Amino acid sequence: MNYKYYKIARDRAWQTLIETKTDRLPIDLTKILDYYELNIYLLQSNDKQAFIKNNTIFLNKNLIKTRARFTIAHELGHILLKHNNLGHTIHTNIGIEEYQANIYARCLLMPAIVLKEINYIKPQDIANICNVSLQTAEYRSQRLKELIKRNKFYTSPLEQQVYNNFKTFIENKKLY
Ligand SMILES: [Zn+2]
Repeated sequence: MNYKYYKIARDRAWQTLIETKTDRLPIDLTKILDYYELNIYLLQSNDKQAFIKNNTIFLNKNLIKTRARFTIAHELGHILLKHNNLGHTIHTNIGIEEYQANIYARCLLMPAIVLKEINYIKPQDIANICNVSLQTAEYRSQRLKELIKRNKFYTSPLEQQVYNNFKTFIENKKLY
């Protein structure tokens, strides 16, 4: 997938962390939803996972917590990236909007710079501290290792700002 689309989604996730003054893990989605004046409505459904209508994210009430968190972040990505088809209920992995919503969710819930600085690189460590599924954490872990190998951090002022927000959290985490 084109790097341009990746970058847009990643930058929007960093902007979200910055403008909501998020400064610790796990990411507080309630605080973020409040900031954007969005509500969650729990759905009793066997097939629909989530969809958006007006200012409400409709979420299947049977999702486990880690899945619910990722789904909320994914839907928020659709909203903030101003995607067209917000009423869709099937989130397959094909198409640019689905790709971007997943990138947004990963960068929001598992900010690479924070994980690098506290040295949480292993999937299980990432899953625990970010409150995400092991499968989701594995994606981040792989990407993180690649970023570390290529030393691709702090190339954007946005990422520097995310670090500044999390500085106290990072310093405390290193200490105890
Ligand atoms: Zn989607």
